[in-house]
Amino acid sequence: MINFDISSLHTPCYVVDKRLIRRNMEIIDTVRRRTGAKILLAQKAFSMYALYPEMAPYIDGTTASGLYEARLGHEEMPGKQVHIYSPAYREDEFDEIAGIADHIVFNSPAQYERFADRAAGASCGIRVNPEYSEQEHEIYDPCSAVSRLGTRAADFRLPEGAEGLHMHTLCEQGSDALEHTVSVFEEKFGKYLHGLRWINLGGGHHITREGYDIDRLCRVIDGLRERYGTEIYLEPGEAHALNAGFLVTEVLDVFTSGGVHHAIIDASAACHMPDVIEMPYRPPLMGEGGRYEYILGAPTCLAGDSLGAFRFGHELKIGERLVFGDMAIYTMVKNNTFNGMSLPWIYTADDEGVHLVRSFGYEDFKGRL
Ligand SMILES: *Cc1c(COP(=O)(O)O)cnc(C)c1O
Repeated sequence: MINFDISSLHTPCYVVDKRLIRRNMEIIDTVRRRTGAKILLAQKAFSMYALYPEMAPYIDGTTASGLYEARLGHEEMPGKQVHIYSPAYREDEFDEIAGIADHIVFNSPAQYERFADRAAGASCGIRVNPEYSEQEHEIYDPCSAVSRLGTRAADFRLPEGAEGLHMHTLCEQGSDALEHTVSVFEEKFGKYLHGLRWINLGGGHHITREGYDIDRLCRVIDGLRERYGTEIYLEPGEAHALNAGFLVTEVLDVFTSGGVHHAIIDASAACHMPDVIEMPYRPPLMGEGGRYEYILGAPTCLAGDSLGAFRFGHELKIGERLVFGDMAIYTMVKNNTFNGMSLPWIYTADDEGVHLVRSFGYEDFKGRL
C-alpha cells in the first residue's frame, strides 16, 4: 500500500499517491462509459488541485459549495463543467458565480425565483429532500427531521424554466441505498421529472470501495434515463480519492500514565483529521497489530484530541514514523491551525518518488489571525 519512501518527508504531511488516484479515476470512468452519466468531483471532499490535470480526463468537471470552490474548479480544471449548490447564495457573489457556472442548484423555489433570472445562461435546478435516508450519522444526514438542505415534497413547486432536480442523501454508501432512495425520490417527485434536462444524484456513492456494486449503480442510472429521458449527473467527492492518501507523523514522546501507554505524535485529530472526532471514526494505521498498545494523542491542549488506541508489534520509540491511511479526503480541506499546530505539508507520490507540492510554516498560522 505504501509505495514510497517516508524517511525524508517533513512531518506531519500528507502524501497522495497518484497511482491510487488513477486507479479510482479509472473505475469512475467505467461508470461514465457504461451509462453516459456525467460525473463531477465534489471539491468539498478533495480540492488538491495539483492533481486536477491528472483527474480531469476521467470526469466531466467539478462541483462546488460556494464561490471559492467554483472558482477553483473553473481555474484549475479548465474546459470542464462547473456546478454549484449552496443552501443560500449571497447577493454580492451571485453574478460572479453565474459568470463561471454551467449548472446552478438552488435550495428552494424561493432562492430560484430570487436569483435565476441572473443565471447568465447557466442551467438552473432545485435541490429536493426526499426525506429518506439509510445512514446513521445525524451530522451527515441531509434528511434528518430538522434538515435545511433541499425542499421537501410538501413544500415543492417547479418554477418555470427550472431544468433539473438535485438530491444528495447518501454518505459512504452502496448502490443498494441509492436504488432505494431513487424509488422514494420517484414516488415523491416523479411527476416533475418528465421534460427536465437533468437529474443530479449528488454524492456519497462509494464507487471505488472494494465490493461496491457498480452493475447496480449502472442499472439505476440507465433506468432513470430511460424513464425520463434526462441526463444523469453524479457528484461524488470521496470516491475520487478514497484510500489514495496517507498522513505521515512522527512520535514525539512515549510514556506511561495511570497504567496506560501513551504516544504523542506530531499530528492532531482536531486540526488534521477532524472526522476522527466528528464522525467519529478510527483512522487506519498502516501495519497495525501486535501486543503493544498505545493511545496516540496530539500535542495540543484539547483533552479529546486523540486518535484512539492502536497496537504495535514493538515498543514505540521517539522519532519513529507512523503512517495513517485514507487521509486524502476530508482532511486537507478541513485543516486548521488550532493551538498553533502546523499545517501538514503536502506531497504527491508516483513511480519517480515523492514530490513536495506545498510546505507550510509560521506565516500560514499568523497570516489568518
Ligand atoms: C458532500 C456532498 C457531495 C460529496 O459527497 P461525498 O460523500 O464526498 O461523495 C456531493 N454533493 C453535495 C451536495 C454534497 O453536500
